[in-house]
Amino acid sequence: MLFSRWIRSLLIAVSIVALTGGSMTDAQEMWKAGQAKVRITPEKPMWLAGYSSRTKPAEGTMHELWVKALALEAADGTRGVVVAADLLGFTKAVYEEVIGRVEKDFGLQRRQVMLTTTHTHSGPALAGALEDCYPLDEQQKQLIDEYSGQLAGKVVTAIGEAISSMAPATLWRGQGTTDFAVNRRNNSEAAVIKLREEGLQPKGPSDHDVPVLVVRSKEGKPLALLFGYACHSTTLAGYEWSGDYSGFTQIALEEQYPGAIAMFYIGCGADQNPLPRRTVELCEKYGNMLAEAVNDVLAKPMEPVPSVLQTRFEFVEVGIEIPTLESLKSVDKATAIHARRAERLRALLEQGEKFPTTYPVPVQVWKLGDRQLWIALGGEVVVDYALDFKQKYGQETWVAGYSNDCMSYIPSERIWKEGGYESNAFFVYGVAADRWAPDIQENLAGAVDRLVTSLK
Ligand SMILES: [Zn+2]
Repeated sequence: MLFSRWIRSLLIAVSIVALTGGSMTDAQEMWKAGQAKVRITPEKPMWLAGYSSRTKPAEGTMHELWVKALALEAADGTRGVVVAADLLGFTKAVYEEVIGRVEKDFGLQRRQVMLTTTHTHSGPALAGALEDCYPLDEQQKQLIDEYSGQLAGKVVTAIGEAISSMAPATLWRGQGTTDFAVNRRNNSEAAVIKLREEGLQPKGPSDHDVPVLVVRSKEGKPLALLFGYACHSTTLAGYEWSGDYSGFTQIALEEQYPGAIAMFYIGCGADQNPLPRRTVELCEKYGNMLAEAVNDVLAKPMEPVPSVLQTRFEFVEVGIEIPTLESLKSVDKATAIHARRAERLRALLEQGEKFPTTYPVPVQVWKLGDRQLWIALGGEVVVDYALDFKQKYGQETWVAGYSNDCMSYIPSERIWKEGGYESNAFFVYGVAADRWAPDIQENLAGAVDRLVTSLK
């Protein structure tokens, strides 16, 4: 009797080890985790975000768009919530509303909440973001306002549901790789096709790492798969709602692991494109490549993450060069965007508005367990940031871009000096600024260093 009970517990222990793919954790290392998803596919034919070349609103749904939340609680009760949304980026207005509400409803502080996005270019346009980019009529503006007004509520609902579903769990970390991201400043699409045919790699720099966090139930069942990749979600440019390549990845993984949610955050992919692109087949192919990279990580032993969570946050006031009445008069009106922007900003200046000379860029640093560093920066961050952070803090550092507030591109010092689209694309975003100050990278990296240094 005693012997068979011993055999049975041994078998259970062996099967848990087999399921988790690593060593068993004792009760001390248990996390609590909860996950939830809320559908955010627009129900009305709204304008799609991200391209100025679109001429009409959305005409259908390729797949649903989601806001997904993962709530974590470490052994000492410290909580953190990660959100991953199929959006181009959160606006400062939506971000601030979410923070205000989760502080009030759930007692979460700003540093404990990380809002990431997939940067899909087949999601909805939001109020106050890229507003000069689209030729919107009054009806479209109204639909965008209506949708944007409800968005924070949906994010807060997902966060609330994730928190209330928290149960004992274990966390596992790993890192994979896939190579469809291409440095778009250094390679043309035609050149990439030729290089790929010859089995050669396009010119870098690029970041092909696929960080993976797996949350498992006490019994070892995957509850959440969170992964990142540094590549623009611009495979598609059509008129159907979709999460672009990571939409396909999320669907594939959720089918494969029933009951789990798959969450994607974009890394520092502002100067990286999925090339070649523009067909649904290629989009699905890249989605499957990313799913395969995640699966490769899951197939090998993953590293358990001890149940410790530290969260840090800072707004960094980065200098900006602002437009003046004089500079707006002489602005290049070659494109409709420039003309709309000049007209809007000129009207604001004529009404007596003073444009701020700095912008508060959100910088967030988390540490999971004893060594997993997770850095999240606002804006469309170029790849140099991730490569520099990895060199400084370890190759397995996770770096999310486009987090919390997506206000413009975030150039590195190198790209600021080189010039080109990623160095000064404020004009598409709508912020009253022409260019960041030249010390932007030094400023942001300095803040990250302060936050990393403050961690235990
Ligand atoms: Zn972008």
